[in-house]
Amino acid sequence: MTEDELSSLAGRIRQDSKRLARFSKDEDRKGRTDLLAAAKLLERSLFHIERARSAPAVSEPIQAEVGEMLDIEIQEDLLEANKRIAQANRALLAEHGVVAIDVMGAIGSGKTSLIASIVEKLGKRTRCGMLGGDVATSIDADMVRQKGAVTVQINTGKECHLDANLVRRALERIDLSRMDVLFIENVGNLICPAEFDLGASRRMVVISVTEGEGMVVKHPMMFQDADVVAINKIDMAEIFGTNVRKLESDIASINSRAIAIRTSARTGQGLEDLVRALSLGPLA
Ligand code: MG
Ligand code: ZN
Repeated sequence: MTEDELSSLAGRIRQDSKRLARFSKDEDRKGRTDLLAAAKLLERSLFHIERARSAPAVSEPIQAEVGEMLDIEIQEDLLEANKRIAQANRALLAEHGVVAIDVMGAIGSGKTSLIASIVEKLGKRTRCGMLGGDVATSIDADMVRQKGAVTVQINTGKECHLDANLVRRALERIDLSRMDVLFIENVGNLICPAEFDLGASRRMVVISVTEGEGMVVKHPMMFQDADVVAINKIDMAEIFGTNVRKLESDIASINSRAIAIRTSARTGQGLEDLVRALSLGPLA
């Protein structure tokens, strides 16, 4: 379907929905709530069409090339080089007043859903973006783009983490002067992403109550530098019999500075606290 066809479809739906609403209010059809409901339903589909139309366009993913981590002198230590590029990223983001959040966590912990929910919560007043690090697909970036964020997909190929250089390349694709908050969704992995500074100003780790109570103690590195830890899928804690207090005390014992928040992208629990803990914009 073309952009024009979509626009004329939206026009027709808008007219039909108004006609239905008028029709349901005719003298002899008083109380025809079914007709009114149909009109509302059309209005609702209109909302979704408009939102799809206003979603930013998809851009080509950035592909990591074999042996990349480039711009690096052969002799130079990999992590040192990463640190240097991360500093440059941080300076660039700060210069444009963009708050960048490195979002880390295991596969299936709910990083993407949580980002999508925050973007929705922030609403239109805060301009959001997401760099989605994924081994191959753009499923995650697409999900967040639906909520109105500008997204750039980074396909890491074999790599199991993002590095500062991949982020640097992705930042070149974004108009930072028109962005307030940038989520950098790391590859799902609780180990090496902790080692690679990306240049973000905050680090958020997402864990899920479905991952078991040993999650935190098994991966202390991941929590050492976290600013915020989301204990996600909290609505499932009872079903899985997870001791959430243990997770919280494990986090506190590794990093007393980290703010742990119980969240559920599904029920919306804790989302406002999360937005506050990350010091993001006003809530919609
Ligand atoms: Mg994801
Ligand atoms: Zn890795």
